[in-house]
Amino acid sequence: MPIRVLPHEVAARIAAGEVVERPASAVKELVENSLDAGSTAVRVEVHAGGLGGVRVVDNGGGIPAADVANLFQRHATSKLTAAEDLQSIETLGFRGEALYSLAAVARVSILTRTPESNAATYVEAANGRIQRQEPRGGPVGATVSVEELFEQLPARKKFLRSARSEQSRVHGVITNYALAYPDVRFTLVADGRTAFASPGEGGLREAASAVFGREAAQAFLAVDAPAGASAIGVAGLVSPPESTRANRSGITLFVNRRPVQHRSLTYAVTEAYHGLLPSDRFPIAVLLLDVPPEDVDVNVHPTKAEVRFRREGDVFAALQRAVRETVIAVAPVPEIEWGAVAQPPTGGLGPVTVTPRVPEFAPPMPDGAPRSPDAGVTQPQFGLPGMPDDGAPARVVLARDDTPGATPPPSHEQAPMTMMQALPALRVLGQTQETYIVAEGPDGLYLIDQHAAHECVVYERLRLAAQRGAPDVQGLLEPAAVALSPAHEETVHDNPDVLAHYGWLLEPFGGRTTLLRGVPAVLAGRDPAKAFLDMLEQAAAAAEFSTWEDRISATVACHGSVRAGQTLSREEMVELVRLLERTQQPHTCPHGRPTMLHLSAGNLEREFGRR
Ligand code: ADP
Ligand code: MG
Repeated sequence: MPIRVLPHEVAARIAAGEVVERPASAVKELVENSLDAGSTAVRVEVHAGGLGGVRVVDNGGGIPAADVANLFQRHATSKLTAAEDLQSIETLGFRGEALYSLAAVARVSILTRTPESNAATYVEAANGRIQRQEPRGGPVGATVSVEELFEQLPARKKFLRSARSEQSRVHGVITNYALAYPDVRFTLVADGRTAFASPGEGGLREAASAVFGREAAQAFLAVDAPAGASAIGVAGLVSPPESTRANRSGITLFVNRRPVQHRSLTYAVTEAYHGLLPSDRFPIAVLLLDVPPEDVDVNVHPTKAEVRFRREGDVFAALQRAVRETVIAVAPVPEIEWGAVAQPPTGGLGPVTVTPRVPEFAPPMPDGAPRSPDAGVTQPQFGLPGMPDDGAPARVVLARDDTPGATPPPSHEQAPMTMMQALPALRVLGQTQETYIVAEGPDGLYLIDQHAAHECVVYERLRLAAQRGAPDVQGLLEPAAVALSPAHEETVHDNPDVLAHYGWLLEPFGGRTTLLRGVPAVLAGRDPAKAFLDMLEQAAAAAEFSTWEDRISATVACHGSVRAGQTLSREEMVELVRLLERTQQPHTCPHGRPTMLHLSAGNLEREFGRR
């Protein structure tokens, strides 16, 4: 067959197929237009799930009569003027394709008036062309109706689901925007009945109340992490660990108030619940990310539901951290529950069932990577990292805050009071199995995993120092030469700043060898080359989902923390517990394992038959 340029109408329908997939996509485009026009009330009416007609009524700025003639042209938009504008899009629309597409696959009519104008304009288009245009009476704003959708495209119509299923998609579109725009009053009327209404005043929780029900909305935890140095802000609501869903459908993400689908960010949210939910349960979350528009590319797909980030790792980290901090603040210390054992055997405590309320932790480390050392591993070195090995009184020198001029402990700057209350002041009683610190709190006994606890402390300290750009570096008198694999070499080459922020002073040494001149101070006395390689390995393994920085700090923290099987002096234990109390996430280590177990006074009383 000879090559021909397709007639306009055919081309238009092909293009329209991408933008207007189904009634819900028409609703989405129209609602986005209403929001871009600054509406404070948007009313959506659908019949038979939109298959029988869609009407969107708004009270926004309307369309000037002079512009109406251009409305249905391809790439006709008032939201962009130059190519550079694509670099930082702040409106929901920008492609100038929605009305053009709709007019190619449906009959579209618009009645609109601007506040400046006395009369409204009515325009009707079908088959890609304006059929009628005339002045009429009408309110300020726009009323857009879409009828006979896909009437000319039987193939597409066949693929649509039942009216009911289309209706539920439309419902999803409206509730999404109601959450992202709590200041806009949304009404959805389906077949003459109000199916959804948001108050349009108040905040996210009020909107969530309309979407999820009052009770659920009240129980949600508020996430509020304003943009800091990273310029990425995270706000929203997430379910407490006890209310969950069987799938991820309860996770809704918005980037600059645009609902987006993003696999890796969804993962960031579920990972934030790591260790707190069974692996087949998922949270409910409404999370709004604020990302500088120039760092987001929304021009990925005609439906604009996908976005790309210039610094995806940062966005991932900001989201995960914000959610993690919120849920951890309410997460209980896992309780030790004594099994209902009739007669404990003599000479021991008997079969104690330790049932942490958090599910089994599955370490996110790839096989072959070092896991937390087991009890019984003997360490040639004594004492906590940073402590001189000269027999001087043992003390934890990490995060000491009593040096003159030192900044107060980081957790105090950021940790809300709830965190301080989440972990009560603990009194150290001793150590058991050279692995656990036994401590007493106001409500019973605590067993603290010394390695996990120290990891938690070191991790936070590394992250904060890196954020401030002031890492604690330990210069090496004898630089260590490390031979790198090609992949590692690329990582090192591409990320000199990040590595420097974590305290790695590197120098190329010809070939694929790098010289370690300085290492994170927590690694003093450890094998820095081993830690370095392990870190690169972990970072590479994490590339898809988790962030680099999370992994490198977790690995360095792991290498730089006291081991299980290491005898600690009383002072060291006291210091460690004190530091742990001040961390923002004292209950779990960076890998998600619990740092402590709790045996409540009530439990003890019950078990000894005192109650
Ligand atoms: P885009 O939203 O990408 O600009 P559309 O085809 O959706 O493209 O809309 C084309 C133009 O029509 C918009 O740029 C806007 O100027 C105008 N418009 C559409 N709907 C409305 C509305 N409800 N209120 C005001 N203007 C509107
Ligand atoms: Mg639009």
